[in-house]
Amino acid sequence: VRVKVLGSAAGGGFPQWNCACSNCTRIRQKKFRGRARTQTQLAISTGKDWFLLDASPDLRLQLESDRDLVPRRGSSKRSSPIMGVILTSADVDRVLGLLHLREFQPLTVYATESLHRILTEDNSLFRVLHRETNQVSWKSITLDKSFKIGELRCTPIPIKSSYPDYVSAARASELVASEALIGLEVEEASSGKKLAYFPSLPALSDDLRTRLSACDLVFLDGTFWQDDELIRLRGTGRSAREMGHIPISGEGGTLEWLGALGDIKRTYIHINNTNPILDEESDEHARVSAAGFALTHDGQEFEL
Ligand SMILES: [Zn+2]
Repeated sequence: VRVKVLGSAAGGGFPQWNCACSNCTRIRQKKFRGRARTQTQLAISTGKDWFLLDASPDLRLQLESDRDLVPRRGSSKRSSPIMGVILTSADVDRVLGLLHLREFQPLTVYATESLHRILTEDNSLFRVLHRETNQVSWKSITLDKSFKIGELRCTPIPIKSSYPDYVSAARASELVASEALIGLEVEEASSGKKLAYFPSLPALSDDLRTRLSACDLVFLDGTFWQDDELIRLRGTGRSAREMGHIPISGEGGTLEWLGALGDIKRTYIHINNTNPILDEESDEHARVSAAGFALTHDGQEFEL
């Protein structure tokens, strides 16, 4: 399996247009040891065809900046190595990029039935994906049931969460609650190599820990360093846990939770611009590295 990290920041990216936190200010002033990041986006492949995990608001530039993901040279007409998209949530940061893919390209979008309904019945903007027959075809995915994309076997793992704020309470009550958010396990059939993609993790469990310990590469929710990170900054607002993100540090944080796992590659993705681990000279960055975690960055590639 080849995996490309096309974007590694949380919603808003790093720096974020309206943010004057210490990280955002210093990176704009070029007084920061660390990288700017676009919004979280992965692409996976076992050969020439590529599949996107979610569709970020930065998708157009993310595809253009990678030579494997642009149309092949010599193709006389429209073509793309992107064959499909697997959606893990209806969050704006995960679905907005679908609108970048509207240029009459045949694509398959894999999503739970509830996500499919939100995007096709509630939001007329997404009708641009259906201007032509055979443009985008939707494939329903079932929780805990594996499906194949090329040589890869994907398993959608339900995670207890809720629908984004833009989905009304009345609408949410008509949808299946457990379909709001999934994590993904992707296994290559021939080699048995496995990766896990969990950019939003609102709760930890022993089951999940056991599952992750059997993977070769784990992409884990690295949104916030501490639970009250945004409250400290703004003086008000919601905690990381209230926003559906277990923080990295502290008791019950993901650093402690996965720190003791053996020989797997552990990486943080979906890193918020306020997170001190972005600063490569910070103590927090050093603590994450010492615990055996790496930060993902845009343009990074893994091969399993
Ligand atoms: Zn900021």
